[in-house]
Amino acid sequence: MRACLLCNSPLRNEMPLADLMRLTPLVKSTICENCSNGFVDLSSGPTCNVCGRNRLQGMPDPCQDCLRWMKSSELVFENAALYAYNPFMKDFMKRYKFNGDYRLRQVFSGQIRQRLKKINEVIVPIPVSIDTMATRGFNQVTGLLDNLEYADVLKVKAEKKAVRQSEKNRRERMALNQPFELNQFEKNSIQNKAVLIVDDVYTTGTTIRHAATLMHEAGATSVRGFTLAR
Ligand SMILES: [Zn+2]
Ligand SMILES: [Zn+2]
Repeated sequence: MRACLLCNSPLRNEMPLADLMRLTPLVKSTICENCSNGFVDLSSGPTCNVCGRNRLQGMPDPCQDCLRWMKSSELVFENAALYAYNPFMKDFMKRYKFNGDYRLRQVFSGQIRQRLKKINEVIVPIPVSIDTMATRGFNQVTGLLDNLEYADVLKVKAEKKAVRQSEKNRRERMALNQPFELNQFEKNSIQNKAVLIVDDVYTTGTTIRHAATLMHEAGATSVRGFTLAR
């Protein structure tokens, strides 16, 4: 019998009731109903129209973070996300990225494929640095893009990764200069094309916006974002 990728309990074959009710296309579940309930599906409630975050009662739309971006940056950039970055998702990311459990990409890759397989945009994943690749062994973003075509247009500038992103505080991250550069062999694939930048998590928005700026400079006609979590 198949086992839940997160807690190892046996997986029953029937679909959880929540999935049936949602009428989402059938995606083979890799986790049990109990673990599945830990993730907050952002399509089930109101979200910020700009960054895609869960909009709690009383929150403005766009949210405060987005209003701040609109004041400080000329870049118009919209992001959509599948799940809230809640403690359960944080724990998932820790196991997937920092413990380097590559199997865990399968928890969401089916769903992401359903969502992205019919779009007309060129998918551009956020890259990882050569150092991260050497220690982790994989790019967690392209892992999520199993069975989808994407263009490796971006790469991390070699000198910019002295401190890991997750170890910086918000202000330090905001102050970072452009961390990416274009992959010379692939950059033509986005000229005069609509681009969808994909990342695992949208936290401050800095990373994905740096990538978006570069895509515009390289001749993309439009640039949107898509992240697993926000
Ligand atoms: Zn489970
Ligand atoms: Zn927002």
